Amino acid sequence: MEKITMNTPVVEIDGDEMARILWQKIKEKLLLPFVELKTEYYDLSLLNRNATDDRVTAEAGQAAVRLGVAVKCATITPNKKRMEEYPQLKKLYPSPNATIRSIMGGTIFRTPITVDFVEPAVRSWQKPITIARHAFGDIYKATEFATQEPGECTLVFCGQSGEEKRLSVQKVTGPAVWLGQFNLDESIRSFAKACFRYAIDSRQDLWFSAKDTISKTYDGHFRAVFEEEFEACRTDFERLGLRYFYTLIDDAVARVMRSPGGFIWACKNYDGDVMSDMISSAFSSLAMMTSVLVTPDGKYEFEAAHGTVTRHYYRYLKGEKTSTNPVAMIFAWSGALKKRGELDALPALIAFGEALEQACRNTLNSGKMTGDLAAMARPGFSVTVLNSEEFLDAIAEELTGILN
Ligand code: NAP
Ligand code: MG
Repeated sequence: MEKITMNTPVVEIDGDEMARILWQKIKEKLLLPFVELKTEYYDLSLLNRNATDDRVTAEAGQAAVRLGVAVKCATITPNKKRMEEYPQLKKLYPSPNATIRSIMGGTIFRTPITVDFVEPAVRSWQKPITIARHAFGDIYKATEFATQEPGECTLVFCGQSGEEKRLSVQKVTGPAVWLGQFNLDESIRSFAKACFRYAIDSRQDLWFSAKDTISKTYDGHFRAVFEEEFEACRTDFERLGLRYFYTLIDDAVARVMRSPGGFIWACKNYDGDVMSDMISSAFSSLAMMTSVLVTPDGKYEFEAAHGTVTRHYYRYLKGEKTSTNPVAMIFAWSGALKKRGELDALPALIAFGEALEQACRNTLNSGKMTGDLAAMARPGFSVTVLNSEEFLDAIAEELTGILN
């Protein structure tokens, strides 16, 4: 079989620990034998970030903006404990994901990879639900304090023009707690644009939920921005038979629980934080969640939602075989190659990405899987637990079968 060719490189962002070990093996067993892989490689391992004073992270983000499609391996976000583990670190580097996101902008969409033998905790769910979280502002950038004496708190905005806006928040007769939060029109709009774009791209309905009955101005603004952005792509939605739907967050939760799935649920920052953990654990696990950063102007960064799987890495270093699940990482690659194929009009590359995903599904549905998934298989489903290496070999065999 001739190898599939590419035009534009994909930005390849390598990472740390067990995820890095699997990254290499995925390339070796599932990509390089089939694709004349073109990548622009950035090594974001903690030690290389340290060696480059973290310049490599910014360069990777800029490359993603330039080339439009990136695929990223999980990376360590150092904390105090990591400083002890890596005494050569010059400082506590920020999260690479945060750095890249601040360069690219955009919204993260998380989707569970579903398999027949794992039943979601919610019986009605037949298709994956994708969560989009507006990861900016609200309580995550709020200012708060506590007061002890009676008094009054006011909210004051001092405009650059000299105009002032002043509102009494509350008069209190005793100790109280206070919080001031904000969001930016630009950020809300970019979130809405990315959601509509992703809905059109993935041919799924879009739900957006907030609490505009209570927060008439703040949440009301979110709702209004979404409606304006919807008007801008209404004809695309109608042409594709898609639906945009706004509802209150509590109503959304109730409806999600009774729905068959298969849509995108856009949430405000806090709701998205909470609901994405609910969706991922109710579908299966982090090891089966993909994550894609989409910018309003259509740049993409694909990754697995899980981290570097440190505990498995330390077993691997001791020479043990680990049964770490590579599926979400494989789907990050297939997602990136399919997107590259779409942008460059390369049907063979798109077909390869689809074949790779099918090979994973066939392997899993034949009962071959890693330990984490075996623990979740429905009773009576016959399972063979493999280590990561054996599992990747099984997928490679399946993939060869599909492609020939
Ligand atoms: P983690 O790497 O996601 O792993 C937490 C646990 O989840 C693992 O110990 C394992 O459980 C299970 N797990 C996760 N992925 C798995 C997989 N593919 N196959 C099988 N089991 C899997 O989270 P963490 O241990 O909290 O974080 C480790 C490092 O990752 C941290 O340094 C953090 O900064 C980084 N991180 C990076 C990203 C990113 O780059 N996107 C995201 C999150 C965390 P068992 O041990 O019980 O088997
Ligand atoms: Mg959370």
